Amino acid sequence: LRRALGSHSNPSTAFEAVRAFSSATTIRATLFPGDGIGPEIAESVKQVFREADVPIEWEEHYVGDQIDPRTQSFLTWESLESVRRNGVGLKGPMATPIGKGHRSLNLTLRKELNLYANVRPCYSLPGYKTRYDDVNLITIRENTEGEYSGLEHQVVRGVVESLKIITRQASLRVAEYAFHYAKTHGRERVSAIHKANIMQKTDGLFLKCCREVAEKYPEIKYEEVVIDNCCMMLVKNPALFDVLVMPNLYGDIISDLCAGLIGGLGLTPSCNIGEGGIALAEAVHGSAPDIAGKNLANPTALLLSSVTMLRHLELHDKATRIQDAILNTIAEGKYRTADLGGSSSTSDFTRAICDHL
Ligand code: NAD
Repeated sequence: LRRALGSHSNPSTAFEAVRAFSSATTIRATLFPGDGIGPEIAESVKQVFREADVPIEWEEHYVGDQIDPRTQSFLTWESLESVRRNGVGLKGPMATPIGKGHRSLNLTLRKELNLYANVRPCYSLPGYKTRYDDVNLITIRENTEGEYSGLEHQVVRGVVESLKIITRQASLRVAEYAFHYAKTHGRERVSAIHKANIMQKTDGLFLKCCREVAEKYPEIKYEEVVIDNCCMMLVKNPALFDVLVMPNLYGDIISDLCAGLIGGLGLTPSCNIGEGGIALAEAVHGSAPDIAGKNLANPTALLLSSVTMLRHLELHDKATRIQDAILNTIAEGKYRTADLGGSSSTSDFTRAICDHL
């Protein structure tokens, strides 16, 4: 790298040199294939990356079969260290048992790596018809607190309590990320989604922080929309929205609603952003146990997530090549998985994407 930088003193020239260096050298990234359909769709990403000559070397990590005392979860300490060291990674879905058992692996990852913002783009795919053809939304979900704080207990028999935690620090941080994202991605509007009429303290604080940050970005329009009204408006006319920022649970729900607007969970990517620039990309969907192991899953969401990882690494040529191959394959319509009304297997669809590279 030093040789590549040479004696350049101009920062932009130096930046170009770093880019040239990183595109000519192998970059290590962590890969969690995950559960259910995870290994099948992770295989698709590996195949597409190989055929597109993406200079990524994967460090694969699997969920352990016993609790690691250092993480207090089935996630191994080594896997977390791998993400910290590499700074980038791709994650397949991880299953969480309902109502019992161990701490969610996803929650552990988000907390341990301080992955504070989850960015979930959702846009209409050219050539794939749904009721809408103009969806172009970014949901930015606070990722570390809210109802996902994991603080639940039984008060007395028949009464349980679950705590929703909202802090000024986490709310300012995600609001800042959303406005900065809007500004740097040519977006015009940020909508803060809330239920502060009822959750006056928690969502009230979240809104107060969003307002504070909005004042620093006078060029970006700012509005506040109550979550129930937001759902109705999204279904009626998604073009009303641009960037949406919201507390954790609302982000989880709204992004699945958004996925439904463009054709389903097989299509929507995301990227978790952490302190110090960590980026861990993952699909919005879960482990889809109903179709796991059947070669039926749509790998598009994980592939588009891997594209966001490449963009984070400034490997834009590779990212665009892969993104175009995915979108062209879907638009052509010959190879589509069952969730999109087609009859292709995961592997045939992946082959078709590689042929479009
Ligand atoms: P899910 O997203 O796994 O599945 C919902 C529906 O969408 C299913 O019918 C499934 O077949 C379909 N689907 C999802 N992804 C698809 C794909 N790529 N191609 C085709 N169809 C697809 O949601 P769920 O069933 O509620 O959750 C299953 C498990 O996943 C649970 O243990 C849950 O905790 C976990 N989960 C994990 C994550 C994550 O790792 N980030 C996210 C959500 C759910």
